[in-house]
Amino acid sequence: MSDYRDIFRKPETKNWFKAAIGMKITRDCLLDIVKEATQAFYHAIRKEINRKHGILENSVCSQCHTPNVLPCETNNKCCTYRKCVFHKIHKPLNCPSNNLCNSICKEIVSHHRFRNCSNSHSFQGPTWVYTEASKWCVQSWQIARCYLSNDGYKDVNQAEDADFNGIVNVIYNCEFFQRYFKDDLTQKENICTKVIQV
Ligand SMILES: [Zn+2]
Ligand SMILES: [Zn+2]
Repeated sequence: MSDYRDIFRKPETKNWFKAAIGMKITRDCLLDIVKEATQAFYHAIRKEINRKHGILENSVCSQCHTPNVLPCETNNKCCTYRKCVFHKIHKPLNCPSNNLCNSICKEIVSHHRFRNCSNSHSFQGPTWVYTEASKWCVQSWQIARCYLSNDGYKDVNQAEDADFNGIVNVIYNCEFFQRYFKDDLTQKENICTKVIQV
């Protein structure tokens, strides 16, 4: 047992512990921001869709699945060339509520920081594989999920399940979140890139 105590007395252990606690506190604060901002983002999207297409902000749809509204294109990271597995069951179609879900899909793309970025593998526009479009109108986290990185977030069904990196990815990848930060997130080096590196 004395060996264990020695480990805990070591300064590097103490520093590691402090860093871990610090990260936990930061993550919890960011989580609150993300939850609030995600809701605000949904309303901003709906406002924009109303302005562009006249679809009322209180009209909702729960019928469309993500493959229904995501065009079958191999550059979206889900679709496979020729026989697409992603679109095997649900084919692309127009949302019965005046194309509402298709419009939300387009707004998600247009707010992604790396929507036009195709050379860096990890950042290529939204991640569609985890989100469920049929819940976009009732659970704004399903929209936020499109801004997670492409791996390891399959079971993150609510904001509370997201780890530190996931939360920072959502904040960084979705340009809507800029308004919550003083730091200019368009700069190559910014608070988010530094945090992700750490
Ligand atoms: Zn496809
Ligand atoms: Zn729909």
